[in-house]
Amino acid sequence: MKIGITSTIPVEVVFAAGHTPCDLNNIFITAPDPEHFVRLAEDAGFPRTTCAWIKGIYGVLREEEIDTVIIVSGGDCSNSIALGEVLAHDGKNIIPFSYPPTPNVAEMETAIIKLTAALKTNLAEIANCKQQLNPIRRKLEELDRLTWHDNLVTGAENLLHLVNSSDFNGNPELFSQNLDGFIRQALERKPLNRKTRLGLAGVPPIISNLFEVLDKFDAAVVFNEVPRQFSLPWAPQSTMSEQYTRYTYPYQLERRLEDIAKICRERRIDGLIHYTQTFCFRQIEDILFKRKLEVPVLSLEADRPGPVDGRTLTRIETFIEMLQ
Ligand code: SF4
Repeated sequence: MKIGITSTIPVEVVFAAGHTPCDLNNIFITAPDPEHFVRLAEDAGFPRTTCAWIKGIYGVLREEEIDTVIIVSGGDCSNSIALGEVLAHDGKNIIPFSYPPTPNVAEMETAIIKLTAALKTNLAEIANCKQQLNPIRRKLEELDRLTWHDNLVTGAENLLHLVNSSDFNGNPELFSQNLDGFIRQALERKPLNRKTRLGLAGVPPIISNLFEVLDKFDAAVVFNEVPRQFSLPWAPQSTMSEQYTRYTYPYQLERRLEDIAKICRERRIDGLIHYTQTFCFRQIEDILFKRKLEVPVLSLEADRPGPVDGRTLTRIETFIEMLQ
């Protein structure tokens, strides 16, 4: 059975239960016309002032034949909880998954066991799936290293591969083969060596051509913060519960900022773009990004799927010129 997911969850549990996870965000944003899904949600009554990712997910579920959805009810946002309620009313089978309120290995174990029971699988099967995914996570870490250390992989390619590790495109074996092919090709390239090294923090941008614009200004993204978190590069050295406890995104900003600051130093990042979605509570967190990080921060926001607008383009250009 195909199981929709609305955010990163312990995907090993879904594979262990013999199901195919399907990240609804990825279906939404890679569709030829993502705006279509946003409109479907608005036609169904979703307010104009709701985050477009939530509306996109809802729109996808109106058209895709997916009857069961795992909703992150703790550690994501209240929009997801309300989305789950509407979907349940539409007749979808909703399975809640809640990250513990603070990072705690024992509580994470309890949360994973609850999901295990809901999907009718067992811990031995899950451990088996984790062993199969660990080598793929190592390859993703290598792809990330080829991005920031060897400058052989572009920021857009990096984001695409890391983001897809939330569900491994539903087929880890094929995902792994494609990754091998991509890494082989990347190793034959000449280093990109752009003038400016950027980090991109926050949810994956809904903007369709952000990386092209940055490239035009001779800037490369060598750190995609949240997509790197999705790939859980520390997983091979951790237990199931530990690997999801180290995942920073569901928890207090403090820990996330420590991770961002550390990676910015390691990757010699000149400036950080903090992307937030219009109508998202995380826009408030922007205050602390600017107060606490040493690296210069540019805050970017976008509402609906589409290219960079004129005002944003000017702000990006000015920021990069300032860094250069
Ligand atoms: S972008 Fe913000 S509002 Fe939208 S789903 Fe993510 S956390 Fe919630």
